[in-house]
Amino acid sequence: MKIICVGRNYSKHIEELNNQKPQEPVLFLKPDSAIVLKNQPFVIPPFSTNIQHEVEILVKINRIGKHIDAKFAHKYYNEIGLGIDFTARDLQSTLKAKGLPWEKAKAFDGSAVIGKFLPKNSFDDLNNINFILKKNDTVVQEGNTAQLLWKIDELIAYISTFFTLKIGDVIFTGTPAGVGKVETNDVLSGFIEEKQLFKVKIK
Ligand code: ZN
Repeated sequence: MKIICVGRNYSKHIEELNNQKPQEPVLFLKPDSAIVLKNQPFVIPPFSTNIQHEVEILVKINRIGKHIDAKFAHKYYNEIGLGIDFTARDLQSTLKAKGLPWEKAKAFDGSAVIGKFLPKNSFDDLNNINFILKKNDTVVQEGNTAQLLWKIDELIAYISTFFTLKIGDVIFTGTPAGVGKVETNDVLSGFIEEKQLFKVKIK
């Protein structure tokens, strides 16, 4: 499986990092080796002193597809989840300044937390899902899918023009504002509405 991530998909997060609003979705990939295994902690890697959390709504693909029309995109997923796109922000800033690819800052071992998934039909409106990230019981990030610059079905259409989507692939749809640095012994927990979908300790 592969992980396809969307960058700069919430206006307030674009502003907090002083980035430009993109004309098209910004995409990058993470390999399956990036996934934090179940019940394992996130280990701060030695190459960064500024690992930041980005909580994101996830979409799990359940059907193979390429050049998917946005109006049929809903047929390609049945589950919505929540996860963290851990980012080595210091390294990413250096790479961005040099115009180099972001992989080392975004796709390293442990950079993807994939929480539990919920059935799509348990939501009244996929474009009105509230989610939050707590750090040590304090809410640090809050978002609603209504704020997505590109909605889930538009993302699937766009992504599938470049990458064939396969069963089990996971899309990270972008982070809202409030990204921040994690420290050893922090505990991050993610919720959609009232349901906790992951909890991960930082080591
Ligand atoms: Zn992200």
